Amino acid sequence: KVNIFWFRRDLRLFDNTGLHYAQQDGIPVIPLFIFDTNILNDLPNKQDARVEFIHSELKDMNEKLNKIGSSMLVKHGKPDEVYRALIDEFDINAVYTNRDYEQYAKDRDEDISNICEHHGIGFYDFKDHVIFEKEEVLNGSNEPYKVFTPYKNKWLEKLASGFIHPYKVKMDKEYFYQNKFKLPALGEIGFEETEIDIPKKKYKEDIIETYDKTRNFPAKNGTSRLGIHLRFGTISIREAVSRAQNLNDTWLNELIWRDFYSMILANFPHVENGSFKKEYDNIPWNNNEEQFKKWCEGKTGYPIVDAGMRELNNTGYMHNRVRMIVASFLTKHLLIDWRWGEAYFAEKLLDYELASNNGGWQWAAGSGTDAQPYFRIFNPYSQTDKFDKDKKYIKKWVPEFGTDKYPEPIVDHKEARERALDTYKSTLKS
Ligand code: FAD
Repeated sequence: KVNIFWFRRDLRLFDNTGLHYAQQDGIPVIPLFIFDTNILNDLPNKQDARVEFIHSELKDMNEKLNKIGSSMLVKHGKPDEVYRALIDEFDINAVYTNRDYEQYAKDRDEDISNICEHHGIGFYDFKDHVIFEKEEVLNGSNEPYKVFTPYKNKWLEKLASGFIHPYKVKMDKEYFYQNKFKLPALGEIGFEETEIDIPKKKYKEDIIETYDKTRNFPAKNGTSRLGIHLRFGTISIREAVSRAQNLNDTWLNELIWRDFYSMILANFPHVENGSFKKEYDNIPWNNNEEQFKKWCEGKTGYPIVDAGMRELNNTGYMHNRVRMIVASFLTKHLLIDWRWGEAYFAEKLLDYELASNNGGWQWAAGSGTDAQPYFRIFNPYSQTDKFDKDKKYIKKWVPEFGTDKYPEPIVDHKEARERALDTYKSTLKS
């Protein structure tokens, strides 16, 4: 008999809740990863740094397992078909995994759990990706919070009683199935290498220590760059929080935002396609395709917006301050549906995470959880004065800035602002 541990967004062989529990039954564990064609076939680009990243992390894990006579079992296909074949091939006691709160993942897991049940196989899932999930931090009426600050206070209160101890994984022969499965090459799953550099999984303590002072300036190397590692679980959120407690409260605050948006997605699944505040779905978007294209390409004639979009297009990353500016610009200045921007970010961001991306976009559009009122519209010029005063960031990404090659603004700031205010106001009061 074997247990299966199914890796998804938790690509690590240490401090891993589901894997820890899979090792408790006294039978060997097969470490499984599935390159899910339901997801991969939707990716528009066969050069995708995220797929490449997953592949390279699996390779690392495989090497570690090889040292103890085991290996990763890496499959490529639809999860239900993969499981049916595995059930034929192995005598499986139970499948262990960590929970994921996106709708597709919830449906998929229900499916697999049903298949397992049908064959008398256990299916056990665990909290691992967040500190507190769906219903663990509730308000006085036992309902989920809809605003961040009171949620955060309750979250911190609850954290004081533990929750960040590591879930140890034993790296000994007897705990892992002894067989060297072959790891498919990137090309075998239909992808190619990219030129994009992924930041190393390393806590840069000096940066995190001064995070509160440096985080808002996109020209500075002032944030952790750990997003992709938290997304794919190559670092543990428990370890990140425990370090944050020692290093910087503002950084801890950002990790709480991550839990908050995951909790919002779990409790209000309608946000995946619609506005959290439903009346915002009535906004008559302008949705001008040509302007959208200019925004995507970083050719709006607004230097800070263009710099951000070009950073994204070139590196798969954009600084948080600039994410807020470009998102506000798209949804307010251009009156383009936030879902268009959300989808573009989803395609490009290495740290793309449905819950946080959706939360960030709805925050910018005003349709989201927070009390941010719609009439607060970011002024790209004053944002530049505050956060990129010397235009260092702008000049890095928009070298033609200041020459006649740089385009004129595609909309006038004052007119666009008035139009956004009128549109939002008349929609929301009707
Ligand atoms: P740091 O600033 O060092 O923060 C540490 C970690 O905290 C981040 O890696 C992330 O996991 C978490 N975090 C920080 N800020 C937020 C936040 N506002 N909301 C939720 N979690 C946060 N973050 C994503 O992880 N994935 C996304 O797809 C994503 N899309 C966004 C879209 C928009 C429109 C906006 C405004 C923000 C978005 N964010 C997203 C949040 C934030 O911009 C990034 O997490 C951050 O810029 C990543 O850089 P870093 O790793 O250096 O983070």
